[in-house]
Amino acid sequence: MLNDLLMIPHSFRIQDLFDILIITTIIYGLLIWFRDTASRFVLGGISLIGIVYILARQFQLYLTAVVLQGFFAIILFALVVIFQEELRRFFERIAIWGRLHKKDRVSSHYEEAEIIAQTVVSLAKKRFGALIVLQAEDPLDRHVTGGNTLEGILSQPLLESIFDPHSIGHDGAVIIEDGRVAKFSCHLPLSTNAERYGNLGLRHTAALGLTERSDALCIVVSEERGTISIAHKERLEVLKSAAELKVVLQRFYGESTPSRKKSKRIVRWFRKNSLEKGVAIFLAVLLWFLFGYQREFVQRDFIVPIEYRNLASEWVIEGPTVTETKVLLKGPAQAFNLINPAHLKVSVDLTGIREGKQEIELSAEMIKTPSSIVVLDIIPKRISVSASRLHAKMAPVEIRTDGALAAGLVLQKIEVKPGTVPILVPRRLRSVDIQVPTETIDLRRISATTTLTPKLLPPAEVYFEGGKTPAVEVVIRVKSRSAAAR
Ligand code: ATP
Ligand code: MG
Repeated sequence: MLNDLLMIPHSFRIQDLFDILIITTIIYGLLIWFRDTASRFVLGGISLIGIVYILARQFQLYLTAVVLQGFFAIILFALVVIFQEELRRFFERIAIWGRLHKKDRVSSHYEEAEIIAQTVVSLAKKRFGALIVLQAEDPLDRHVTGGNTLEGILSQPLLESIFDPHSIGHDGAVIIEDGRVAKFSCHLPLSTNAERYGNLGLRHTAALGLTERSDALCIVVSEERGTISIAHKERLEVLKSAAELKVVLQRFYGESTPSRKKSKRIVRWFRKNSLEKGVAIFLAVLLWFLFGYQREFVQRDFIVPIEYRNLASEWVIEGPTVTETKVLLKGPAQAFNLINPAHLKVSVDLTGIREGKQEIELSAEMIKTPSSIVVLDIIPKRISVSASRLHAKMAPVEIRTDGALAAGLVLQKIEVKPGTVPILVPRRLRSVDIQVPTETIDLRRISATTTLTPKLLPPAEVYFEGGKTPAVEVVIRVKSRSAAAR
């Protein structure tokens, strides 16, 4: 093991760096995702199965490894079903990354937070029920239904008028987007697991519901109790004081929108989720060391088929050909994992073939392997093939029959059209008389004069032009015995 570690600097390739980077990103993404969607138990379960699988492979517990391998496909399927909502959000986010710096904002975040905080406190004092949604990065259109478009500049009087119980539009939620009151009287999706907060009313359940589907922040003012609650990231919290609200809002705005200074952002990025990043790097390196690191070179031999290609149509290979050969390959064990032995083959090009028996040397170029795997040997190295150019000639058609006509019938004549067909034969058979038989015609089934189209069955080493069997027509003329006697 120590030896292996010392060897790493010598064999580390640029590909390995990318390998680790990609896996780190995936693990990091998964960790963040599972942390934010409160699905830790799912992550726990999958990690446990993953660990058991790795151990089973390491210690060659074949049955466990095979069963778990089959299990992964099911798990993947189950995950897609369980997390369809999260997956949609994930792809939505990817789509958003391209347009992060959209518009310049109307007011500063500080002002915005200030206005909202004051309004909410005032609404709470008056016991006006309210539900205010602050959009972050996720688009909300998919989740919000109904409502009236307003697109008004954010202000305290505007918000208070909307939530005034005498106003027609006070029911439902207000959506705030980029310093504007985009919509009011909106209907939000209800939470499906609000039971943990006891007896929640609809307003609170709706606020929680939206935060289960997006990264928006919802502020709820209770009409009954005059309390202020914050729903964010699937959690609902009743605030103790107005001061707390300001802190929450400042934090939300700091998080949800990119700050102006780039350098600061980069530093923040490194600080953010540093635990998850560390864990992701550690796991990726560990996985790479277990599965990706090329520790040793191995030699393996394979029996592979020989494929003959580019044989011109007027040529045939005569007699038995060698169909398999043994090849000895050498390369890193990991590289062998990437090749499918069933796809290995020796491909022999017959473009320049000559008449008669000849030897063909098998070479490494005839086998396709990844660049890191070399062909050490091929056994046998030479194969012999016997080729013959085909010659065209005409051959008579031979009608094959079986059985006899029924007692009452006399055979008058059997005709075949055409009587001869063009065939191709190797040189050796050029001057041999060859007949091409039809498939057997059963005379017992004939009850009157009949026209048939039997198939031609070419004997061994006889071919038809272009591989197409010519069609022939056979007419069997019969008479009844009484008519024949007359
Ligand atoms: P409060 O503490 O203010 O009474 P609550 O959580 O107990 O709130 P309800 O008493 O059920 O909730 O309040 C009903 C009000 O909540 C409705 O009048 C409507 O304005 C709002 N509301 C109900 N359902 C939704 C929804 N799906 N989306 C947005 N607002 C909703
Ligand atoms: Mg209520």
